[in-house]
Amino acid sequence: MGCWQRLLTFGAVSLRVGGGASVPLGGSRVLVCRRQLSGADSETLKQRRAQIMSRGLPKQKPIEGVKQVIVVASGKGGVGKSTTAVNLALALAANDSSKAVGLLDVDVYGPSIPKMMNLKGNPELSQSNLMRPLLNYGIACMSMGFLVEETAPVVWRGLMVMSAIEKLLRQVDWGQLDYLVVDMPPGTGDVQLSVSQNIPISGAVIVSTPQDIALMDARKGAEMFRKVHVPVLGLVQNMSVFQCPKCKHRTHIFGADGARRLARTLDLDVLGDIPLHLNIRETSDTGQPIVFSQPESDEQVKKPMRRSLLVLDAILREMKKMLSEDKANSRYQFVRRGGYNFSTARLDC
Ligand code: ADP
Repeated sequence: MGCWQRLLTFGAVSLRVGGGASVPLGGSRVLVCRRQLSGADSETLKQRRAQIMSRGLPKQKPIEGVKQVIVVASGKGGVGKSTTAVNLALALAANDSSKAVGLLDVDVYGPSIPKMMNLKGNPELSQSNLMRPLLNYGIACMSMGFLVEETAPVVWRGLMVMSAIEKLLRQVDWGQLDYLVVDMPPGTGDVQLSVSQNIPISGAVIVSTPQDIALMDARKGAEMFRKVHVPVLGLVQNMSVFQCPKCKHRTHIFGADGARRLARTLDLDVLGDIPLHLNIRETSDTGQPIVFSQPESDEQVKKPMRRSLLVLDAILREMKKMLSEDKANSRYQFVRRGGYNFSTARLDC
């Protein structure tokens, strides 16, 4: 090989410069060499490259006081991600009252948690200047919605959003939590990557409706978590079927079993199907999530409620599988809860 020019690009952007110069470009660094590489040179270059790459990745640091983080994500908005996150947090707490559960809403542009958890107001500051979460139904909650006006749109760009995320991750006084459920924004952008790379995550739950347009993005979500080494616990198929309350006819408004097919291609499990149900929508909108407000009020509600808890059961089973390699730190018990016709897994960590 004669005199050559090599362009090494870290990241997607490349820029050609001369004379061995090094140009940082939006977090990427471009090196151009105008000489033949010897074996030693190429080794040095490899090491340098590894150095730069490792510098680029933030170090994961646990959130103070939090044992397990479960993120709830979706490709598309409006598929029921926040609804699932809220009910999952409540179900985790209901499943074992000795567990402390928190809910963190990092959906900076469209925070739903304040409304769904019926919470308003600004967080107080602790003595160490950390924000104290707001509390309802026994769940400690933090959301961008507590920091901005309810009706004001968040018109921020990259850096401001990242600084808000940093605050939500690092400047909240959670006390001691067994589980922190994180409601992610839809998509696979900066926020999702930043959260995934900054804190250790026990597992991700992907929520999707069964329709193709939502599944396409759900797949991207699952792939993103895999790329950043976050275990994907499985898919929740939300709005899977609608049953007419009068004639009982069942309609698959968003298609049938789409999430199940996607799960198969991704080698994942479907953690549960949640039907499209008026009570789920109403209880979310009134800030009385169904897992809390209608545990078994009537036959119509019992079913989706049971399904939500079955989702939890499946999630916990997945976590059990995942953590079983670490037996020294994990202890599990299966319990049957009175009243319901199912068994739930209790995870002690
Ligand atoms: P996302 O977080 O994905 O944007 P949300 O959880 O905010 O979605 O849900 C969007 C809307 O759909 C909300 O009004 C919510 O109450 C409603 N919803 C979600 N899941 C269901 C369901 N299974 N049945 C009925 N309505 C639902």
